Amino acid sequence: METLEFQSEARQLLQLMIHSIYSNKDTFLRELVSNASDALDKLRLEGFRDKDLEVDTSDLHIDIEVDAEQRTLTVRDNGIGMTRDDVVNLIGTIAKSGTAEFLRKVRESQEAAGPQDLIGQFGVGFYSTFMVADRVTLVTKHPRSEKGVRWESGGESTYTIEDVDDAPQGTAVTLHLKPVDTEDNLPDYTSTAKVREIVKRYADFITWPVRLVPGKPGDDGEAAEPTTINSRKALWARPSSEVSEDEYAEFYRHVSHDWNKPLETIRMQAEGTFEYQALLFLPSQAPMDLFMRERKRGVQLYVKRVFIMDDCEELMPEYLRFVKGVVDAQDLSLNVSREILQQDRQIALMRRRLVKKVLSTVKTMMADKPESYATFWREFGAAVKEGLIADAENRDAILAICSFDSTHDAEAQTTLAQYVERMKDDQQHIYYMTGDSRATVENSPHLEALRAKGFEVLVLTDTIDEMWVDSVPGFQGKQFQSIAKGQVDLETEEEKAQAEERRKDFADLLAWMTTALAERVKEVRLTSRLTTSPACVVGDAHDLTPTLEKMYRAMGQ
Ligand code: ADP
Ligand code: MG
Repeated sequence: METLEFQSEARQLLQLMIHSIYSNKDTFLRELVSNASDALDKLRLEGFRDKDLEVDTSDLHIDIEVDAEQRTLTVRDNGIGMTRDDVVNLIGTIAKSGTAEFLRKVRESQEAAGPQDLIGQFGVGFYSTFMVADRVTLVTKHPRSEKGVRWESGGESTYTIEDVDDAPQGTAVTLHLKPVDTEDNLPDYTSTAKVREIVKRYADFITWPVRLVPGKPGDDGEAAEPTTINSRKALWARPSSEVSEDEYAEFYRHVSHDWNKPLETIRMQAEGTFEYQALLFLPSQAPMDLFMRERKRGVQLYVKRVFIMDDCEELMPEYLRFVKGVVDAQDLSLNVSREILQQDRQIALMRRRLVKKVLSTVKTMMADKPESYATFWREFGAAVKEGLIADAENRDAILAICSFDSTHDAEAQTTLAQYVERMKDDQQHIYYMTGDSRATVENSPHLEALRAKGFEVLVLTDTIDEMWVDSVPGFQGKQFQSIAKGQVDLETEEEKAQAEERRKDFADLLAWMTTALAERVKEVRLTSRLTTSPACVVGDAHDLTPTLEKMYRAMGQ
């Protein structure tokens, strides 16, 4: 037997759990059942992929066993299990980015509300068991390991780990529950009624059987049979009128590992030659890694109720990577691979319909739930705008759900349709200016002339804005025109004639200045752009904007 130290972040997290005064301690069971369910999914998939693997997948299930005398609760699955290295790496350390974020938030809020609220928001996985147990034992066996592993900890700084010979397939986690009387409000988790209640609330939709195993032989001396306590009905297969908002929210947590409520739930049903059902969610908060390159997509693929794969990129384009949920196809083979998905015409059609459905849902939100839409756009707008470049087919639909800052209103954003409606009679273009922040743009001399003439200018401050404005031809027949590039044509005929006069008067000076500044600028021009600033530098019509220039430089180009 070996005694090992928890990694320091893990230790901090455990301390938080042990001393937690978080009121909803029931969530530990949801975490254990959810891990068990994942483990069964993984084993079934492995069994498909590797026919030589010696595993029994004929009766996969999750058992919960309570013992009131010993005050233990055990959650046992016959799933994939863990190797010794897995146990050390997965249970002894914290690899999840979400957990690092959780700890950071806890540190920040130490004085304020304290961590108890945050536990509810984050869901901290396996370690949540230490909210209710003073010792946790885990016995597990991976099909590729000869021996099993027994892990145990009291949640302080160390754990023990040893090999065991007789571990069955899968994982059993046993909690030695804290005494009820020392802890205020600690429910009795050895009560089968309590266990049923929690499973019903948090895990009813899990498609594997969750069974309650009687701990003691019945009156007649025979061990009673385990009873399945979840309905196992896939939520997406039930009529939406029968599914409550709470059930959707719980399912969302299960697929997304996000502990906030979803912003919007999307259901889709396709019948006919290629049948499928989709249950998708728009989250209410962007994840930390939304703009990281390796970020995964959030849609899971099921085939006939059976989990096939996570983060199925064939079903959702990159710019909608934040969409979570499940797509269940009836007519695919269970051992469908990524390669097959990539070439499948039906999958491509399905993806097109899913994308259109997501975009139209946002459009409806815009009209019916402006606050939800505003949240959506604040959190995900920058990602959605990537679609203006990547998804030409849906460009107009995407433009229709975009909102931008504008000189029209210092606070509220505007849609393009609203902008076009406000355009002056003689206005040809949709004017915009890009920049790091609204303040930079508003202080820019480029804005002066347009402002003086009462033209509205869109203020674009996301990095992505620099790129799509060049590739999008226009909106409702109006082109996008940068006010910081080339000549912005704002003059009447009379003004043009006057300008021509002035240009002649100043021709010598301008020629001299152009020569004097030859190393720095291409040309020195008179301008009507400025009203209060004496001079400004403008880019050529086809030049990169300063922000883009900075970006390319940063990328080493
Ligand atoms: P998460 O489930 O979000 O990854 P957890 O703390 O709940 O985080 O679990 C950490 C990891 O430990 C899991 O990702 C999984 O690899 C492993 N694990 C936990 N429980 C089981 C189990 N019952 N069977 C197999 N692996 C498990
Ligand atoms: Mg988990």
